[in-house]
Order: sequence, then C-alpha cells, then structure tokens
Amino acid sequence: MRLSSLIYKIARPLGGLQLARVLTRSHVRIFMYHRISDNHIDEGLNAENFKRQIQLVKMNFNTISLSDLLSDRSSAQRYTNCAVITFDDGYQDFYKTAYPILRAEGVPVTIFVTTGFIDQEQWLWPDQIKYLLGNTDVKKFNLDALGELCMAEGRDRAWHKISDHCLTLPNKEKLKFIVNLAKKLDTPLPKTAPPEYEGLTWGHLREMKETGLDVQSHSYSHPIMSNLDDRELKFELEEPIKRIHEELGHKPNIFCYPNGQKIDFNDRVKAAIKMAGYEYAVAAFPGRHTLKDLYEIKRYPTSDNMEVFNKALFGLTRLAAR
Ligand SMILES: [Zn+2]
Repeated sequence: MRLSSLIYKIARPLGGLQLARVLTRSHVRIFMYHRISDNHIDEGLNAENFKRQIQLVKMNFNTISLSDLLSDRSSAQRYTNCAVITFDDGYQDFYKTAYPILRAEGVPVTIFVTTGFIDQEQWLWPDQIKYLLGNTDVKKFNLDALGELCMAEGRDRAWHKISDHCLTLPNKEKLKFIVNLAKKLDTPLPKTAPPEYEGLTWGHLREMKETGLDVQSHSYSHPIMSNLDDRELKFELEEPIKRIHEELGHKPNIFCYPNGQKIDFNDRVKAAIKMAGYEYAVAAFPGRHTLKDLYEIKRYPTSDNMEVFNKALFGLTRLAAR
C-alpha cells in the first residue's frame, strides 16, 4: 500500500483530511480535467462525480482562475488554501455538462483549446485511432513497427499500444501512420470529428467567455511538441494566439503542453513558447512546488476515483511526495 493510501485510510475518519489541508495550505492545487459525460457509457469522468469533486473543492478551498492566480504572484494570500480548475482540449461536453455545473457552483475555470479542433480543421489524433479501432471489422492486422495486433486482445489494449507508438513519432510520420492505419483497418476516417468526439465552436466559447470563462492555448493540432521541428513548433504556438485573438478578442498568455508529460517538452520547446509571447505553460503532472517553473506549472490529473481525488485535494499526495 502506498504511503498516501495508508495515511488516507487512517486519517480520514479522524479529521485527518482537514489537518492535511491546513498543513499544505500554501501548496497551490491545480486540477486538470478533459471530458465529462452525463451518462455512464460515454468517455470521461461521470458528471455526478465531477459535481461531487467541484463541491468538495468549493467547500474547502478558495477557488480562483489560473489567470487571476498568475497575474499577481506577489500576494501570498492568493496562494493560501487555493485550488484551480482547468480543462484541456475543448470537447463539446464541456459546454453541455461541465460548464453548467461550474457556473452553478460559482467556480472559475480555464479551458485550454486546440484551435484546429475548434476550427473543425482536424480532430484529435488519439480519438482518430480510437474511432478506427471501434469501427473496423478487421480482426487482425499487421503494423510494421508493432507487429501483429489482434482485436480479440481488446480494443483498449490495441489503442494504448498504437497511441504510445504514435507519441514517439515525428509529427508528419505520425499523421502518415494514422492514414496507413485507416487503410489497414479498411475504415474511412471522417474529416471532422464524429459526434462522440465533437469539439466546441467559437460561438460556445464566446458565450461562455461572457460569463467569465478563461480561454487559453493548447496548440493548433495537439502534437507532441518535442517531436516538432522549429517551423512546426512556431506554427503550433502562434496559430492559436492568432485564432483566439480573432475569435475572442484576447491573446492567450498560457500554453498547455499536449499530452503534458516530462518527455513531451524540453528547453527548446520552452524557449519557443516564450518567444511566441506566452508567459506561462502548464504540464500534466503534479509536483511539490506547483509554480516553481512558470513554463512547467504542475497540475493534478483527475479521474472518477474519489480516493485519488481526495488525496490530491486535501494534500496527502503532497505530504507523501519526497
Ligand atoms: Zn490535450
């Protein structure tokens, strides 16, 4: 059993969560969400669990938008007992399900959008792989790099194998790989996202911005930034600034790394982000010092697992970190 789980089990009935919260009150918690579904079948975190999580955040912490938090870092007060909610990608379920819950609870939120997705020029490549695997009748196929894959082993397994491989490819090769995969699976790839993977529109974003939504950048096409050449990197960083400015009237100043793991960015990527005009960038993993590197701001991933969420929220994860 992990140390944080052990502390959680012992401390929870004894008011230990509140003690942990006080002990870690200066640790800023930034949470990262992707999709919220209003039923138990679709992808993403279930809406009831999401609502429970947001209510817990609100009951125990001061909620603040990421932009507000970052705009005045001189005030230690701002950091005390503070929690921030962020969303990545820009799926339509944010408008339908997540935002109404956040609005009803009065909790501010930042969304990082992939602007090519909002412009319906593309849809997210991990979803493309999922779609192809979910809609093919092919039972067995051979991918040069990965050998033979068998659907009987489970589509999820195949999806993980294929997307993990794609994470390592230079961007152009990854795109070619997916076109080739569609051929192998004898399944045409729709040009725009099918309903289950649909993105927000600029209209949705404009409407939500009017009620306080903070919209920031998550690249143009959701590539692995460290796999891009300098020209591609520049485009993926500058295009979202241009499009968000044109459509919503403000220039985003926070960038969110697609996939967001340590391997997905490096000093070259950070320098390009700075050069493009961003003041901050957020990662997809937590750390002891959330804001130590402003081009690698740490975030907690979320899931339906309430124990994991509670441990992160109340600071047990932070206390157990060395
Ligand atoms: Zn993303």
